[in-house]
Amino acid sequence: MPARTIVRLGHPALRTPAQPLGPSRIAEPEIQSLIDDMVETMHEAHGVGLAAPQVGEGVQLFVYQAAGPPEIPLHVVINPMITPQVRELVYDWEGCLSIPDLRGLVPRHPAVRVQGLDREGRQLDYLVSGFEARVVQHEFDHLNGVIFLDRMRDLRSLAYFEEWEAYLVGRSHQELEETAVG
Ligand SMILES: [Zn+2]
Repeated sequence: MPARTIVRLGHPALRTPAQPLGPSRIAEPEIQSLIDDMVETMHEAHGVGLAAPQVGEGVQLFVYQAAGPPEIPLHVVINPMITPQVRELVYDWEGCLSIPDLRGLVPRHPAVRVQGLDREGRQLDYLVSGFEARVVQHEFDHLNGVIFLDRMRDLRSLAYFEEWEAYLVGRSHQELEETAVG
């Protein structure tokens, strides 16, 4: 059993902007347990990212990690601010643990700057690009009540996983694993 239940599309938590977490609260057992539970829940669900609203918690917190390739170590990001590094947008496939089974092409910035706090309350400031930038933007959106369907420019690429696998990406396993599911 996952540590927390992932809420699905239609649950109001997914459409409610999350509140910033007071830095003094980060060390509280309740928040540290929430972080541990979110990491466990993400792993159980075979996702690469999970935001607090997806487990019904309205705080600005997300976690992400990917076995890869490309491998991404575990990140815990609190009160994030995201700054695009280039204006261009690139399209790639995304899914979401709160919208099970659907895939769609979503435009995202190819590189972003991430600022925020880690689980010890230390300042974070780093650049991400490619797949990691996509995951970060997807999770960041969850903190603002935005889901990947809202970002799609053309719903015609929307597909169920089985059909997507059969018709849209062929049998390339690497492409499957690179799909962002958060
Ligand atoms: Zn998601």
